[in-house]
Amino acid sequence: MSHYCQTCYYNKKLKTGEKACPFNSFYWNFYSQNQEKLEKNPRIGMAYRTWAKIKTETKTEILEQAEKYLKNIDSL
Ligand code: SF4
Repeated sequence: MSHYCQTCYYNKKLKTGEKACPFNSFYWNFYSQNQEKLEKNPRIGMAYRTWAKIKTETKTEILEQAEKYLKNIDSL
């Protein structure tokens, strides 16, 4: 995140929805897809502890948001 966020179409605080910053859902999508490989890494494990605290329904929404953005990556 940077000062560019201040004038960006997307909202850096949102993980889902039309104006959700793509990097938020991409971040969690990456961790979710690579959980088996990364969750035991001591430097990365904290992200998985955070991920584990997120409600299943919210996780699904975040991953669906990432999927939607990835399918339309050329129009972001
Ligand atoms: S896409 Fe996200 S990280 Fe990039 S400038 Fe916009 S709000 Fe910030």
